[in-house]
Amino acid sequence: MSDPAVLVVGSGPAGLTAARELAVAGVRPVLVVDREVEAGGVPRHCDHTGFGLQDLRRSLSGPAYARHLVRRAVGDGVAIRLSTTVTCVGDDGAATLVGPGGIEVVHPRAVLLATGARERPRSARLVPGDRPAGVFTTGQLQQWVLLRQLPVGRRAVVVGAEHVAYSAVLTLRHAGVATVAMVTELPRHQTVGAFALATRVGLRVPLRTSSRVAGLHGHGRLEAVDVEDLLTGAVERVAADTVVFTGDWIPDHELARRCGLTVERATLGPRTDRWGRTSRPGLLAVGNLVHPGETAGRAALGGRDAGRWLGADLSSGATQVAARGLPVTVARPLASVVPSVADPGDPPRRLLLRTAEFTGRRLVVARQGGRELGRHGLRHSVPNRSLGVPGAILRGADPDGGTVELSLA
Ligand SMILES: Cc1cc2nc3c(=O)[nH]c(=O)nc-3n(C[C@H](O)[C@H](O)[C@H](O)COP(=O)(O)OP(=O)(O)OC[C@H]3O[C@@H](n4cnc5c(N)ncnc54)[C@H](O)[C@@H]3O)c2cc1C
Repeated sequence: MSDPAVLVVGSGPAGLTAARELAVAGVRPVLVVDREVEAGGVPRHCDHTGFGLQDLRRSLSGPAYARHLVRRAVGDGVAIRLSTTVTCVGDDGAATLVGPGGIEVVHPRAVLLATGARERPRSARLVPGDRPAGVFTTGQLQQWVLLRQLPVGRRAVVVGAEHVAYSAVLTLRHAGVATVAMVTELPRHQTVGAFALATRVGLRVPLRTSSRVAGLHGHGRLEAVDVEDLLTGAVERVAADTVVFTGDWIPDHELARRCGLTVERATLGPRTDRWGRTSRPGLLAVGNLVHPGETAGRAALGGRDAGRWLGADLSSGATQVAARGLPVTVARPLASVVPSVADPGDPPRRLLLRTAEFTGRRLVVARQGGRELGRHGLRHSVPNRSLGVPGAILRGADPDGGTVELSLA
């Protein structure tokens, strides 16, 4: 293949959808590169329905959704190269690809990063104790069970109580493993009430709230997990041969950092505007790299927007630009906002907010220099779930007036 016009790094929903938009816009060649042996990203190993709701307006299983996106992209002219890692994008835009054939350097006109996110593993959560086998994240567990059909264990503790933790319980069940406890530091679960009820009552999985995993024990294989009640300080040793650390997402941002992109402290993903433009012209970022822990559909829609903008930009021969607009920040208990750069004249359709606390009915208020720009009502807010706020809330901002802050009232 000659130099691609656009190099897309990552073949998950965001990368495949962006690549397809570029191909549909007539950009050629578009090359998607993925380090895995198969294209499709995380949904490949999520063997349950609930994928495609926002972008395809229907619910598919993860593998079916991944296959659909791959077929559609390839059908529209996208090339995919697998088992290949992009290790660097130099200041001149040259990208280094390392694959089975060795090292190759390509010179695309633009690079779109769609490298996704991962769950924080045990080591990064600083959980003390032994280092036995039987310790997973949900992603690792699903790869183990669904892609490689390997045995897991018999009794598991699941750490976390957001959507993905409930997905881990189902995967464990599929593998014949009983979940003996779910543990969350927060006072309540963070998923849909029906899932939580079905798991607690139907599957008889107890949820320990305001609790944390304080230690792992086992020589060779995990034997027990210490669960500490954060309200009383009591520690109980729970017999288990498997522990799954779920959620607590961190963007796969190593390449983005190596490219020198400005990274948001709140999300640890690159700072972007609504089109996925970053702090570096010619380098875009989309999907869970930018908003870790969102749905596949949201990742795909972000990819679509970025692909559309980049396709039009390349076709018109315009010079590529960095993210444009005002900085958008949040005040506690709001924890993050994406995108974090917004043009008040061309705001994003939606701002994705995260909160650190459970709240009841509240208002999101946008202010610039103390002047109120707009407000939007929320029914409630739950940590680890996003809150969608119309981007139009930023419309009245002065383009020269500095940072817009979002807070709860
Ligand atoms: C257990 C679980 C259950 C889920 N359930 C649902 C659900 O029911 N519904 C839903 O909508 N969403 C669900 N999600 C979320 C969904 O999977 C993600 O939102 C989606 O996969 C994000 O897409 P993405 O393209 O941003 O990243 P990913 O799907 O993570 O894809 C990123 C790709 O980039 C590749 N990559 C990374 N770095 C490099 C590099 N340097 N070089 C080459 N390749 C690289 C990776 O190999 C990967 O294939 C679930 C997630 C998990 C983990």
